[in-house]
Amino acid sequence: MGYIEPAPIKDKANPFESMMSRFNIATEALGLDEEVYNVLKSPSKQVSVSLPVTMDDGSIKVFEGHRVIHSNILGPSKGGVRYAMDVNIDEVKALAAWMTWKCAVVDIPYGGAKGGIRCNPREMSAGEIERLTRAYTQSMTGVFGPDRDIPAPDMGTGPREMAWLMDEYSRSMGTTVNAVVTGKPLVLGGSLGRVEATGRGVMVSALAAMEKLKINPYHASIAVQGFGNVGSYAALLMAERGCTIAAISDISGAYYNENGIDINKAIGYRNNNNGTLEGFDGAELMSDPADLLILDVDVLVPAAVEDVIHSGNVDDVKAKLIVEGANGPTSAEADAIINEKGIMVAPDILANAGGVTVSYFEWVQNRLGYKWTRERVNRRSDRIMKDAFDKVYKASQKYNVPMRIAAYIVAIDKVSETYKYRGGF
Ligand code: NAD
Repeated sequence: MGYIEPAPIKDKANPFESMMSRFNIATEALGLDEEVYNVLKSPSKQVSVSLPVTMDDGSIKVFEGHRVIHSNILGPSKGGVRYAMDVNIDEVKALAAWMTWKCAVVDIPYGGAKGGIRCNPREMSAGEIERLTRAYTQSMTGVFGPDRDIPAPDMGTGPREMAWLMDEYSRSMGTTVNAVVTGKPLVLGGSLGRVEATGRGVMVSALAAMEKLKINPYHASIAVQGFGNVGSYAALLMAERGCTIAAISDISGAYYNENGIDINKAIGYRNNNNGTLEGFDGAELMSDPADLLILDVDVLVPAAVEDVIHSGNVDDVKAKLIVEGANGPTSAEADAIINEKGIMVAPDILANAGGVTVSYFEWVQNRLGYKWTRERVNRRSDRIMKDAFDKVYKASQKYNVPMRIAAYIVAIDKVSETYKYRGGF
């Protein structure tokens, strides 16, 4: 049989629609009045800029950049800046709103924002990326600020870009302002514990959910999709707490070992193998990597990309618990079936909020001019994650809704109540 083009995923969602469909269900359950609904559904500020940058060959290329502030009701807005070819204002708007709900769920005093530049960083030299980052920062000096809007890394950006951003902003202000951005290198005021923070929060959420489901971690089998920052730390920390990591995967394929994969060994292998698990011999290579999602395990941790659990495979998912390390790994259409099947979901805006929580700690430390130990960072972020889980679980019982909707309810309730106290015009 010849090659068969795979059918497109029917419910491949526009991120804005996917966010709004959950937002709408939650506002209805909460009985939010229409005025506040209208305030919360639209971003408070959108800035789009054209950035002329001199390329290495002397030509000038113009890049399109955006920053969307969805809300600053709870405090200065917070959110990453992504460098990718498919950046567009709709996506940035959705991701900015997502950040508002994520910060509110974990109860940190931030609103939500997101930024992006349409570019292909893989085809650009370090010098070109530096000039682009500085041009973007210059064009946003009136938007960014430690008390206004605090960017962070996202897809295609990391500590290096955040260092340039901090430096450019500081030059404009005539003084070093390291609290203007988080995700910086440690020497520039980055926080200990930030690298593993998101995976650690996934572990805390997973253990809290297992407790509710009466799954003993020592008898739990887990499949983790994605073995990057989030997936590998989540797998490692859950293995350290006694769980059996039966499957892991990355872009090279999925690897299964019923008796448990040695995660330290897998991380070591990946680190010495150009960042991929290709050729890893501590487990069996699965013939179809998508089958990882439908393995007979207790817990499934999607920690790679969005919309991997969709209407085409959700019927076959056997896990009792899904802990969303990635942003948006479950399509809105799949939600209904997951709920029918009685699978508990620790949703993305709760389960992967450990990263933004430690970013908040970075900002706090920068403002204090003081550095916390890794133990202090971990202890405080674990407590925040556990408290957030408990609050969302309680809301799911009170409103008789799934955990995802409960997370939105907790977030929307907090932002709308704060808005009512602060008032509008
Ligand atoms: P990463 O780039 O470090 O790792 C991504 C991993 O996913 C890699 O192992 C890659 O090979 C794998 N992958 C990509 N496509 C895949 C596919 N189709 N099937 C299986 N594996 C695939 O990224 P990350 O920082 O770990 O982020 C993962 C997800 O978590 C993203 O959705 C991101 O938005 C979200 N997230 C990350 C953070 C953070 O602090 N890093 C915070 C919140 C949310």
